[in-house]
Amino acid sequence: MLQLRNVDVCYGSFKALTNVSMSVDSGELVVLLGANGAGKSSLFNAISGLNKPAAGEIEFEGKRLDGLKPSAIVSSGVVQCAEGRKLFPMMSVQQNLMMGAYVHRRDKAGNRQRLEEVLELYPILREKADQPAGSLSGGQQQMVAIGRALMSRPRLLMLDEPSLGLAPLIVRQMFETIQKINRLGTTVLLAEQNAFAALKIATRAYVMENGQLVMEGDRDTMLGNEEVRKAYIGA
Ligand code: ATP
Repeated sequence: MLQLRNVDVCYGSFKALTNVSMSVDSGELVVLLGANGAGKSSLFNAISGLNKPAAGEIEFEGKRLDGLKPSAIVSSGVVQCAEGRKLFPMMSVQQNLMMGAYVHRRDKAGNRQRLEEVLELYPILREKADQPAGSLSGGQQQMVAIGRALMSRPRLLMLDEPSLGLAPLIVRQMFETIQKINRLGTTVLLAEQNAFAALKIATRAYVMENGQLVMEGDRDTMLGNEEVRKAYIGA
């Protein structure tokens, strides 16, 4: 479904990604592990068109993404939920969610149905629909951010550190919902530092260090790998 071949990303003379090749198949939930500054956001921004690769190719469902505008990439079915939520705090929860429907703005019936699906996934957001997004708790704001991304109807949903700053119980519920989103048919690419919780719901994972992918394997291989456990799980 998604294929990256030998992708480099540079910020001026600094090379943030070097020769990154990876793939995500339809239906998978692929986790990207890596410490702070490893290059996970740089990779996501390259896929979603916010970073222009200095080299390499990015393909989605057989179509080249690199060189397309971010809005065209969203229209082709690849949607990023960025680190830090980036909601419109003064706008209501429902207005924030509907921002995600912008690419499908002509399909009003489809958007209503999609909103219903998002509110079924996150029932608390139905209760808070008219409240300013900025008044919600951190976990609820993260639900709005993921819900807004879902309103764009992704076939590939990229989640960048959704557990950042959330309490352990909330993190657990959030990972359960991400797994549910995947099982309902959306392919997921998830960048996380919360390695154990992320690996538990993953089908496959990559490890990134200093802008390079250094390891790849299915969930059980990664959970059983000594180096992964030492570096990312702490056991
Ligand atoms: P984090 O979890 O902290 O976001 P990350 O794995 O997502 O980390 P990136 O944000 O992709 O990592 O950063 C990779 C490297 O690129 C870091 O050394 C970072 O300082 C650098 N970097 C990121 N964005 C820029 C930028 N706009 N200009 C210059 N350097 C940048």
